[in-house]
Amino acid sequence: MPEGHTLHRLARQVDRLFVGRPWKVSSPQGRFDAGAARLNGRTPDRAQAWGKHLFVHVGADIWQVHLGLYGAFSFRGDEEFTQGETAATLGAPRAAAQQLEPRYDDAGWILPEPPEGAVRARIRSQHGWADLRGPATCAVLTVVEYEKVIRRLGPDPLRQPEDRVDPQACEQFVQNLSRRRVSIGAALMDQAVVAGVGNIYRAESLFMERISPDTASHALDRGQAEALWVRLTEQLRDGVTEGVIRTLRPESTDARAGLTHDYYAGKVRDVERRHHVYQHQGTPCLRCGETIAMRMLQGRRLYWCPGCQTR
Ligand SMILES: [Zn+2]
Repeated sequence: MPEGHTLHRLARQVDRLFVGRPWKVSSPQGRFDAGAARLNGRTPDRAQAWGKHLFVHVGADIWQVHLGLYGAFSFRGDEEFTQGETAATLGAPRAAAQQLEPRYDDAGWILPEPPEGAVRARIRSQHGWADLRGPATCAVLTVVEYEKVIRRLGPDPLRQPEDRVDPQACEQFVQNLSRRRVSIGAALMDQAVVAGVGNIYRAESLFMERISPDTASHALDRGQAEALWVRLTEQLRDGVTEGVIRTLRPESTDARAGLTHDYYAGKVRDVERRHHVYQHQGTPCLRCGETIAMRMLQGRRLYWCPGCQTR
């Protein structure tokens, strides 16, 4: 499932390509006909992400998309549309598209290719279009409904002022952890505790902070909880910048996590390796040598090192 960094990249891309100019919205598959009709022909004002939700504001209507496990947007268009850092797909992996030979209608709008597969929503600008397939949620909300959704979401580390930690958001996270009677491994996946964290960031942030996933959420002391917030903030920001989750960084030392050049030296055989524990069960931990473990927790795979995640 895409984690928060993907949604924030998606929001930026939708903002850059569609906001501030009229768009056309349709539902080739038909399941979003009524919603598309409400949005069609208008001008989107703003796109933003909160955790794993995308919200596109169109006047007093808000288009909400949650990609879930299988959802993805694919973007196609002419050179004006695809220039810069436009990602061809955002969400679940899709096959790469062929080069496009753009053709235009009399009004100067690019003619989109026929929709392929079950396209829930298609949004069109003059220079390109985006197809949404397989989302868990695709709906048009009123302001009241939108506020109800965001009230249920915890703080999102990617909604802090750039290059700073927002003390209020951090405090909210600390308070949320202190109120939960579940393990920290379960609490981090609860979008009401912290929005945007998924399986990979859960595993890697706990590893870096040496926290056992079985430690009770409310048993973390303030210092641990704040450090975890800062860690998640750094990791998610890197994810937005790079477009992939890479938490293993042999090029940089991290004394706090006990990971220095010496620790990594000779241990990372796969230069493509991006994670410390996520999907590395059965192999020796880079930090302590203990075998990395995996088990199911609430239907998702949990990865951790029993040797050095003992706090
Ligand atoms: Zn270890």
